[in-house]
Amino acid sequence: MQVQSMHFKARAGQKLADQRLQQNLTKLSTKFVSARAAAMTAIDFPATRAALKERRNRALENLDVWLETFEREATRRGVTVLFAETTQEAARLVGDIARRHEVKKVIKTKSMVTEEMRLNEVLGQMGVQSIETDLGEYILQINDNEPPSHIIAPVVHKDKEEIADLFAKTHGRPRLTEITDMTREAREMLRPHFMTADMGVTGGNFVVAETGSVVLVTNEGNEGMCTVMPRVHVAVTGIEKVLPTLEDLATAMRLLPRSATGQATSNYFSVLTGPRGEGDQDGPEHMYVVLVDGGRTGLIGGDFQEMLRCIRCGACMNHCAQPHHRAGRP
Ligand code: SF4
Repeated sequence: MQVQSMHFKARAGQKLADQRLQQNLTKLSTKFVSARAAAMTAIDFPATRAALKERRNRALENLDVWLETFEREATRRGVTVLFAETTQEAARLVGDIARRHEVKKVIKTKSMVTEEMRLNEVLGQMGVQSIETDLGEYILQINDNEPPSHIIAPVVHKDKEEIADLFAKTHGRPRLTEITDMTREAREMLRPHFMTADMGVTGGNFVVAETGSVVLVTNEGNEGMCTVMPRVHVAVTGIEKVLPTLEDLATAMRLLPRSATGQATSNYFSVLTGPRGEGDQDGPEHMYVVLVDGGRTGLIGGDFQEMLRCIRCGACMNHCAQPHHRAGRP
């Protein structure tokens, strides 16, 4: 991911003047904001949020202990746990795993940490093909590796017509404009990669210390393909994502899908505990978890520690602090 903050003012001016982009963003914020508001009525939202805050604080107060517990429990179940102090080190570790297992092709799910690590670029330099399989991320990748614009909806800044043009150009097929047809075409393009990849790389919405599990919360089903089809699975996530217990996970899951997309639960919710064991019908032969610091421990005890409680629901990206913008109106 390119750091663009030094150009923020100039870029913001350009983007605010882009009518097409403004229309796309208005549609998105309206949908997400209203869906979230409706989903929150089904639970006692303030109490659930307070409960998660307490549980996340408990994890952060003894982060080292919970990370050690996770490492011990995951290792006991056959997972190799690696720690990276920097995002560069994390990318190098994933590259080493690819080399060790003679990987030629990687299939990936959406993961903001791997964006931070510029993982696709690092793998590409090693001669390893890395394919994004989340639909939004796939669209961005075939558009000259464009960076995502939203943590939940990475391609929200593009409308259907732009994507139709891109598919026709890249896939070399007649231009389609029905969303179901376009999605089917993307699936047809991705399917051969699912069948031939040697390694799957995913993020991790959470890791659970008491069971040594990696938790993935998705809507598209590509995560299942990335963790089950290849012989190696590498999950990469930040060290702050550790939850001490499955009870903590249950509380987090009451909030995450509701806050992110207005769903009571996501279409897919996987708790992955170890590689394929004897008698298991599926799963990778080798499983790794790379836990990335990337400056996170520097926040502990400081004014910004509460940033580490973020569950990456993306809701704050859809809500403007100005009251007249809150309902998603421009
Ligand atoms: S900071 Fe934003 S992404 Fe993180 S938990 Fe809060 S609303 Fe969600």
